[in-house]
Amino acid sequence: MHFQQILSLGAIIIALLAFLWFVFVPLFGESTPNELTPQAGYAFDYVVVGAGTAGSVVASLLTKHSPSSSVLLIEAGESFGVLSKIPLLATFQQKGLNDWGFLSEPQVYSSRGLVEQRQYLPRGKGLGGSSMLNYMLHFDGEPRDFERWATRHNLSDWRWKDIRPFLTAVRTQTHSLLEISPDYSKITEALHKTRKEFSKRNWRFRRARYTIKNGLRYNVYHQFLQPALKRRNLYTLTNAYLKRLNLEYIDEERSEVKTILVGVMDTKNREEYVFSVDVRCEVILSAGAYQSPQILLASGIGDASLFEELDIRQQLQLPLVGENLHDHLNLPLFVSIDTVGPTLNQRALLNPIQILNYLVNGYGHLGNFGVLGHIDSSYEESFGLTFFGVGAVDESALMSISNFNREYFRALFPRYHNSTQEGFVLISTCLQPKSRGTVSIGVPNTRWKPIIDPNYLREASDVDCTIRAIRAAVEVVKSESFAALHPRIHWPKIPECKKYGPTERDFVDNMPNDRYLECVLRYVGLGSHHPGGTCVMGTAANNSVVNSQFKVHGVDNLRIIDASVLPTPISGNPNSVIIGMAIRGATMILQREKLKKKK
Ligand SMILES: Cc1cc2nc3c(=O)[nH]c(=O)nc-3n(C[C@H](O)[C@H](O)[C@H](O)COP(=O)(O)OP(=O)(O)OC[C@H]3O[C@@H](n4cnc5c(N)ncnc54)[C@H](O)[C@@H]3O)c2cc1C
Repeated sequence: MHFQQILSLGAIIIALLAFLWFVFVPLFGESTPNELTPQAGYAFDYVVVGAGTAGSVVASLLTKHSPSSSVLLIEAGESFGVLSKIPLLATFQQKGLNDWGFLSEPQVYSSRGLVEQRQYLPRGKGLGGSSMLNYMLHFDGEPRDFERWATRHNLSDWRWKDIRPFLTAVRTQTHSLLEISPDYSKITEALHKTRKEFSKRNWRFRRARYTIKNGLRYNVYHQFLQPALKRRNLYTLTNAYLKRLNLEYIDEERSEVKTILVGVMDTKNREEYVFSVDVRCEVILSAGAYQSPQILLASGIGDASLFEELDIRQQLQLPLVGENLHDHLNLPLFVSIDTVGPTLNQRALLNPIQILNYLVNGYGHLGNFGVLGHIDSSYEESFGLTFFGVGAVDESALMSISNFNREYFRALFPRYHNSTQEGFVLISTCLQPKSRGTVSIGVPNTRWKPIIDPNYLREASDVDCTIRAIRAAVEVVKSESFAALHPRIHWPKIPECKKYGPTERDFVDNMPNDRYLECVLRYVGLGSHHPGGTCVMGTAANNSVVNSQFKVHGVDNLRIIDASVLPTPISGNPNSVIIGMAIRGATMILQREKLKKKK
């Protein structure tokens, strides 16, 4: 049987869930958003732009804790479909209606095995944003990331002790976490044993933890936004694009956003209707790492040189808007095993007990994304390994969303044709890459795609760091803990890397040379969808875009709260950290409001 049949099965399950959804949800009175009719003349205390991970949290906390304030939430997309609910089917949303579907600029130092050397960059579009498209992995946060912000970026109010209570709140109050236990499969059993075997190493072994409840995705949308949509002081404009922020100057150095322009497409005549909304207190940009800088640049907030080139009237000089883009780059390596894991493949998915278990208890392969656990190195070495329990890597499903040229996809996953293959994909990542890219615009219109250049592997140290990760991955695969599974790493046979390897010996002793590993990384390394840094947080306009209170330098009432403010990458999956930061951002806004009222 082919993957199409798995899809059919998935479709049956979706249909069943959709049926339950449509029957039961109205019974329990799910309220619809307080949707506004697009027209000029509105005024709101707060305007939140983007209903993604951060925007959902901010809009929810403002409406909850400031009931007398009116909050407008503007979101370019609309609701996500049933597909977003079933964890294993997360990737099937990519390239669909709820995915912005960006492509990077052709990469110079990486992505050589991808079509036009471009990375595919999915982003969630709709209520919940990328948290509805993501792979649901939770990460508690790394104390030293924040200590580094405090020391190297002079963000003395962002020490671990400052952010920790907010991250603890994310873990204990807001998420329902599903943890993959050691007895989940033979691979998790082996992974569990490595803790002991490598106990002398300064490594951290983490079980995979997901934001999943009862077998269904459960995240900021469900926890924060859904309850907020029922509040009378939250107003929404969906399918609406923020087009422009208009600044008014109070004196030479200080300005305020007084009005914003919003665009809604008139579906009948295919023309955009653009109208103005007045802002009484603050605007919070939460459009994500690619689009918050896009909105600023389209508004004439950024570096003068770009505006001269594009003939845009500059409103504010802020040279670092769109700079400092960072992201993790992953090297996936396929490892086959000769026992039934069971790993994710057709046999496991079509197992009736598995299906029943999922439908009744929400457990099993359909109830998570397949990631089984992680190993992190010491902070100084800064690499991570992720164990993705997929044995049969399906070409039709994964090649297109990774933008691979077929030949390179097949080099990476040589057993792609075997739908009952057992094994796993071992992902090596440099957690603190030094390469930095950019986000820019070609036209001052937020309906157009921004120009995104992640510049992966520009810095040689990122290659060295990833090679350290790969060598650690080899050690784990060769360890006694894994021996019973008879694992075999399938070193990719990439034509352009042939002169460096893999040699026949490499398949036996797993010791390919560094030049071969670098070559493979530069051909088949894949972005991990963790962009940040494009409206970086810092102390002044010459080193950042926002201050430590998320406020844009030079604008009294404009904050950016989302992944774009991260000074350096998060040493793990960033979503939960961004939630914690958004809770802190909302708290700051509410404190300011309190102070104002006292005066
Ligand atoms: C495929 C994928 C898998 C991932 N897996 C994980 C994972 O397992 N674990 C993890 O921790 N992280 C993961 N991430 C990353 C994580 O989801 C993001 O870092 C996080 O969601 C970013 O939050 P944000 O608030 O910055 O932006 P987003 O959540 O992307 O929100 C931005 C919102 O702004 C809206 N918007 C943009 N422009 C405009 C405009 N002009 N007008 C109005 N609205 C606009 C967008 O539609 C979107 O809803 C993944 C990401 C992707 C894409």
